[in-house]
Amino acid sequence: MTQVPVIKLNDGNRIPQLGFGVFQIPKEETAGAVKTALGVGYRHIDTAQMYQNERGVGEGIREAGIDRAEVYVTSKLNNGFHQPDDARRAFDRTLSALGYDGDDSYVDLFLIHWPLPMLYDGDFVSTWKVLEEFKSDGRARSIGVSNFQVAHLQRLAEETETVPAVNQIEVHPYFANNEVRGYGQQHGIATEAWSPIAQGKVLGDPVVARIAEANGKSPAQVVLRWHIQRGDIVFPKSVSPQRVRDNFALFDFELGADDFDAISALDRGADGRIGPNPDTFDYVPS
Ligand code: NDP
Repeated sequence: MTQVPVIKLNDGNRIPQLGFGVFQIPKEETAGAVKTALGVGYRHIDTAQMYQNERGVGEGIREAGIDRAEVYVTSKLNNGFHQPDDARRAFDRTLSALGYDGDDSYVDLFLIHWPLPMLYDGDFVSTWKVLEEFKSDGRARSIGVSNFQVAHLQRLAEETETVPAVNQIEVHPYFANNEVRGYGQQHGIATEAWSPIAQGKVLGDPVVARIAEANGKSPAQVVLRWHIQRGDIVFPKSVSPQRVRDNFALFDFELGADDFDAISALDRGADGRIGPNPDTFDYVPS
């Protein structure tokens, strides 16, 4: 069985560097997709309240017959629930949707999904203090943030006690996001790279295609391997069992320095983003 490397977080907990993302997997297909991924060997699932498929994640893990403690599960606070009491209620709903009660009543990692600096009077600090409660009562083994820019992280550092264990941000060859990653490296915050293959948009790039061909691997495999060698945590999404398998087969080869640098050189800076800019994103699902 493939050994996925494990990253040690700043709170001492450990996270598998490769996981399975379930964004945009319809709720009725999620349990099956998660079961497939667990069958391939993934032991880390990334979901969110916004994805509306936490229930399917819990079902998939139970149907796979794998001990819950062996699967690392992340979820994220939805944008409408940043006020402290809303956040507490939403977190309870996450645990219940996942089917985690009794001794199993915890998630491995819980994140603020977006900083929303234009909403809630820009107050993500109060929200973060509620996540600190979840950490101290043990119902979130680790807590972190997502889509936080350097200024947002600096504010947490100035006004709160806990350094986020991770920052989950957009990172792929067209948007290397090195400034935010660099802040994380300096301050012990692990980077999780979302949309690691840019939702497929980097796979037709001629440089990626050439490197894939030269290494006898698929374009997705060489891009995911590039992330692994950068040290980031990734969880590609796929509903195709073959791709779920391919995306897991990253540990029997290594990119040489030239190939690695050629992929790094595809960075287009801010123009390479495929997702929203966290400084202005203010979407709240109805
Ligand atoms: P990905 O970069 O993982 O790309 C997924 C897309 O690529 C799907 O269309 C999939 O199609 C296709 N694909 C997957 N594997 C392959 C392959 N081997 N070859 C060709 N095509 C492939 O995008 P996501 O946006 O899903 O990001 C991954 C995860 O990151 C999410 O699931 C979620 O957990 C997280 N995320 C977090 C965000 C945040 O704000 N915190 C924002 C966005 C994502 P198919 O399914 O048909 O195979």
